[in-house]
Amino acid sequence: MNGPRIRDALQSATQRLNKANISSARLEASALVAEGLNLSRTELILRAEEVLTPEQEERIDHLIQRREAGEPFFYILGKREFWSLDFKVDPNVLSPRPETEILLEQFLRIVRSKTNGNEAIRLLDIGTGSGCIAICSAVEIANLLVTAVDISAEALCIAQENANRHKVVDRICFTQADLFPPDEEELFHFILSNPPYIESGDISGLPADIRDYEPHGALDGGLDGLDFYRKIISKAESRLLAGGVLMMEIGETQAEAIGSLANKQGGYELPKIFKDFSGKDRVISMHKRSSGSDKLS
Ligand code: GLN
Repeated sequence: MNGPRIRDALQSATQRLNKANISSARLEASALVAEGLNLSRTELILRAEEVLTPEQEERIDHLIQRREAGEPFFYILGKREFWSLDFKVDPNVLSPRPETEILLEQFLRIVRSKTNGNEAIRLLDIGTGSGCIAICSAVEIANLLVTAVDISAEALCIAQENANRHKVVDRICFTQADLFPPDEEELFHFILSNPPYIESGDISGLPADIRDYEPHGALDGGLDGLDFYRKIISKAESRLLAGGVLMMEIGETQAEAIGSLANKQGGYELPKIFKDFSGKDRVISMHKRSSGSDKLS
């Protein structure tokens, strides 16, 4: 039979993405070709000699064209892996970044070291987006009850779909609100957030695939990038149980400023900073002051 084979499609897709200055052209090409053929990347290699139908060629061409035009790889794929789980993503949600796994890792460390695994642990995830933090937490901790808040109804739909996919939807309450759920009586052991933290003035200088496609509401942290930290730090104390912990992802230059917001607020013990795999400050945690015995860490 004539016509291009899978390996030809892979080669030409790689060339096109290289020309479009995409740094991991080969990797992205093979994922997009696999997606166009509804195959895994392993199957792609095993079936490299198979000839493509015109429809398959067209599907692949369409996916590659979108990437050439600058659309983010993960939105074209419609999913991104986080904590080894697949999350559906589209331009209504930030696609989850590997750095955010540091937040999850530190949270899990504290929960596991300080709780007995029986009583219900209540978690609030502020700005849940794709739901990655809320969902992975619930997958990891069986006795966790999560309230996942987002201001965007569209984001909450995606998060809910992701929770369904990972079978934790019955332990997550999705709530549309501006930062905190409205019932002031509802208190939490943990509050987590990866809030928008880019300075407004820096948004226009972001790489085009982020600037032109990812939701600005999930990126823009106001003039100094700290708007959400101010609001969350001042309010979280009243929504945490005694000894509860607030943990947030932060921008690499923001640890000091956010630490001093916490100190000024006065209701927290000295904040701790955790670094990411590139050695950059990435997570801040602060414990609500408490009388001692009920402290979580
Ligand atoms: N919580 C989501 C994440 O960590 C969304 C964060 C956001 O939109 N700022 O990816």
